[in-house]
Amino acid sequence: NQSPVITIDGPSGAGKGTVSQILADKLGWHLLDSGALYRLLALAVSHHDMSTDDHDTLKILAEHLDIQFLQGDDGKLDIILEGEIVTQAIRTEAVGNQASILAALPAVREGLLLRQRAFAQDPGLIADGRDMGTVVFPDATIKIFLTASAEERGRRRYLQLQAKGEDVNLQDLVASIKERDERDANRAIAPLVPAIEAIVIDSTSTTVEQVVEIILAEVVKKG
Ligand code: C5P
Repeated sequence: NQSPVITIDGPSGAGKGTVSQILADKLGWHLLDSGALYRLLALAVSHHDMSTDDHDTLKILAEHLDIQFLQGDDGKLDIILEGEIVTQAIRTEAVGNQASILAALPAVREGLLLRQRAFAQDPGLIADGRDMGTVVFPDATIKIFLTASAEERGRRRYLQLQAKGEDVNLQDLVASIKERDERDANRAIAPLVPAIEAIVIDSTSTTVEQVVEIILAEVVKKG
């Protein structure tokens, strides 16, 4: 039968990535970072200097994009695009913004759909994104919607970027997060909304560990 799937949707900076990684490690399940796919596509489009107006070509690129997720020597996952390690390169604000623009195109979402579903394999999958519970895995076992205030998400992102030595301004960051949220929540296709049956968790004043505990309790409940 179908492998179990836990979907974790929500806006950027809510802690989905960290929570998903911990859950995947604890349960020994696969992990789908769907945002990385949109980011990889954005990077490929920029590498190939492609126009974003030709939706048919974008769809073909999305379907056939040469991506690998490889376990590195340090146990961390290396992300390879067309033979090049881009683990860090896809994490910039610029690539994130470009990904969000591409993500509003139906052709792009269609092109990535089956690739995402292919991640659902035994013993199970943690799927991190915006439309995991609503579109990609509508039959998921457990659906989580993880959110936090834009100010708190901006603060977390600020600390992350600062630690990486990037020169950022907190106000600008919060403004850009709100702009991206707007675009993700109001787009016509697969907008960022909680699935009807989703458990909504606000992580504004909750620790990562507490969020993980809440979700693991659901796993136990479902048997
Ligand atoms: O989660 P992350 O910030 O890496 O995602 C980058 C962008 O990709 C998001 O702002 C969103 O527009 C898009 N995305 C999406 N659907 C997903 C995952 C990401 O539209 N499932």
